[in-house]
Amino acid sequence: MALVKCKECSHEVSSKAKKCPNCGANPTHMFLSRKARLIIRLIQGIIFIVGGIVIYNIFINSI
Ligand SMILES: [Zn+2]
Repeated sequence: MALVKCKECSHEVSSKAKKCPNCGANPTHMFLSRKARLIIRLIQGIIFIVGGIVIYNIFINSI
């Protein structure tokens, strides 16, 4: 069981805990948010590139 620091109050909270017992913030969610944001950006980038290629191919094929 890992301990994560609450970003709201720096209180050590179990990563399995849904809420910080000290301030009520969600430490697990905050702990994952950086990685999650990075992955979302990566996926958005891939979708943007793939979407661009698909749109380009449709545009080229329609002429
Ligand atoms: Zn807290």
